Amino acid sequence: MKNVLRTLVFDGQVSLTLADTTAIVDEGIQLHELSSSSAQVFGKALSAMTFASACLKEDRGEISLSLQCSGKGGNIGISGNRALRIRGYIENTQAEGSETELLGSGALTIIRDDGYSSPFVGSCAIPQGGVDAAFEEYYRISEQLPTCLKTAVELNEAGRCAFAGVAVLQPLPFADEKTLAAVRNFSLEKLLERARETGVEEAAKAYFKPDCAVWDMRTAVYQCNCSKTYLARVLVPVGEEEIRRIIREDGAVRIHCHYCNKDYEFTDKDADGIFQK
Ligand SMILES: [Zn+2]
Repeated sequence: MKNVLRTLVFDGQVSLTLADTTAIVDEGIQLHELSSSSAQVFGKALSAMTFASACLKEDRGEISLSLQCSGKGGNIGISGNRALRIRGYIENTQAEGSETELLGSGALTIIRDDGYSSPFVGSCAIPQGGVDAAFEEYYRISEQLPTCLKTAVELNEAGRCAFAGVAVLQPLPFADEKTLAAVRNFSLEKLLERARETGVEEAAKAYFKPDCAVWDMRTAVYQCNCSKTYLARVLVPVGEEEIRRIIREDGAVRIHCHYCNKDYEFTDKDADGIFQK
């Protein structure tokens, strides 16, 4: 399902991103078996990173978020790519408390790699006000982009995701004062509520006269990019001697993928392949 809409609004002066991230957040909740508080915060971060991934311009682009938090949720890591495959983890899957209790204080760091030159690294302190405020602060400080960002995560009684979404308005550099004021006063909450009822396309049409020439609909999913082949490449620099020693002592080299909770095992037979014996 195409769930990420990008277009220009306010006479082409502001970029709008509106995404339904329900399936992404639900997959994250199930994979990591999250408590409702952990699901709230992680789901918001997944939604915001769906937006960040949708902004990538290069095909080989990758973007990673690291929230180094002192709060009850512990650290959060999320990565996404240009193909809108999003994946992540939250350290404490069973946290209880409010969004600000889970985050606490700390730093938000984003690494953006366009696949060509060296990656761009930006960082800011996590402000009071939760995940949305942290992302707004990041875009203002590190990317010098005024940004209004709102995420929503709603869970049902079973703890699954009933709805999740993200709505973002980013004025372009030439936006006039009147438009900037209109953006500040615009209710992204209402836009998200509408998206929940009617889907992102109808919601955008109901609130704006979007620029049809730049109307862009894409599909974002929760998907890890780990594989045994990929992890085998990670083992090469460790060296054959060390790998064989671990297999001898522990029976296998075991690697756990934090992003999708999958376990991988490498035995002597795998080592033969990796080191071409
Ligand atoms: Zn994985």
